Amino acid sequence: MPKIDKVVEAPELDESRALVGRQALVAIARDVLGHFRSRVRAGGAAPAFTEVVDSVRTAALRRRETAPRRVVNATGVLLHTNLGRAPLPAASLERIARVASGYSSLEYDVETGERSRRGVSVESALATLTGAESALVVNNNAAAVLLALTAVARGREVVVSRGELVEIGGGFRIPEVLERSNATMVEVGTTNRTRVEDYERALTAQTACILRVHPSNFVISGFTERPNLAALAELSRRRGVPLIEDLGGGLVVESFDDAFASLRHEPTVQASVRAGVDLTCFSLDKLFGGPQGGAIVGGASFVDRLRKDPLARALRVDKLTLAALDGVLDAYARRDHDAIPVLRQLRATPAMLEDRVEAWRAALGERAERTSRVVTVSETGGGTLSGGIPSVALAVHVPSPDDFTKRLREHEPPVIARIDNGAVVLDPRTVLPGEDDEVVSALQAALESFDGE
Ligand SMILES: *Cc1c(COP(=O)(O)O)cnc(C)c1O
Repeated sequence: MPKIDKVVEAPELDESRALVGRQALVAIARDVLGHFRSRVRAGGAAPAFTEVVDSVRTAALRRRETAPRRVVNATGVLLHTNLGRAPLPAASLERIARVASGYSSLEYDVETGERSRRGVSVESALATLTGAESALVVNNNAAAVLLALTAVARGREVVVSRGELVEIGGGFRIPEVLERSNATMVEVGTTNRTRVEDYERALTAQTACILRVHPSNFVISGFTERPNLAALAELSRRRGVPLIEDLGGGLVVESFDDAFASLRHEPTVQASVRAGVDLTCFSLDKLFGGPQGGAIVGGASFVDRLRKDPLARALRVDKLTLAALDGVLDAYARRDHDAIPVLRQLRATPAMLEDRVEAWRAALGERAERTSRVVTVSETGGGTLSGGIPSVALAVHVPSPDDFTKRLREHEPPVIARIDNGAVVLDPRTVLPGEDDEVVSALQAALESFDGE
């Protein structure tokens, strides 16, 4: 068996060493040699030096590819959690570069020369945008809900509707979050119907708050009833019991022109604030269109209570998140919704998408014969809306769609498509501006390898 040092220092592995670093290459070589050693022990042949080196090189490449890298999202799922949810606006990237390449005034007041509170300007912009008195930003919405319930309801009771004991995906389940915050869950109503009186009957001296959860990614239809927010807020005020809402999506756009028609039924953060919800929690990387983060907006005394909880320190965000958020908030302040990629994608009309599909087909030339333009639906994803958005996509008709999608993923950058009714479907809604050529070249290469089949 070759010596590990000799393998790692082999000139054939110069590139691999540069790619993953010497230390990682040592670990990889150790693994590879271990494999060969077991092969020998099992009676197999001892490997040639070149065989070892080749295996190490391949393993190093694979290691590199498992780090997050850019992919083209042609799935039509806007907030694809596995693909990193919301792409960031250009302004966010500029701010990240500016803030992260040197020192920053993260917790420093440049005017007075004294310490300041982290996130103060972003949080005040968020409060202004949503119409709330105060705001707090934490690591994600799961953290926001956990912090709100811990700070407000630890050791006491939380009243919640049986129709809202949901699981959002990625392990976020309301009953489990309540348990972890050391609050006692008091379920009211039934799966399909809960009335204000159900909540009222459950209020006791032990009640810390009423929790309302946006079911996000599923609907109960038919014989259903859910009190409107105003009625629940009225109860909360009348009985002096705080109302906390987990809104999920974090939509803050209120101008429902036709372009945002798909969002007409999605609740907005402002509506919750106006209704008098004491603490509203939402994701910053869903319909808000920003970096991973969670926001809690509401009354100043409540938000301050959360800020002072020891858990807040553990859930705080870093300077990169704040810089990214600053860019998004700036776009909202200027009402420049098209600067926010998710909102721009939501606004793309079927006519615009049709043009892009036809441009792809034109660029494919003769190979376009295997493709067609299809009417489809894009999805918001990320546990946001349960309905789809009417869309237009390219369908590729090949005998083995699984192989075809694999070929598309082998392109650099990988192009991620979906399979619908036996066809490979690429939805231009989620393909970013500037990525059209990459989609075409991935399709060319994949179709070429399918010629004759
Ligand atoms: C998505 C979602 C969450 C979790 O938010 P993250 O930002 O992913 O942590 C919690 N509650 C609701 C209602 C959601 O839709």
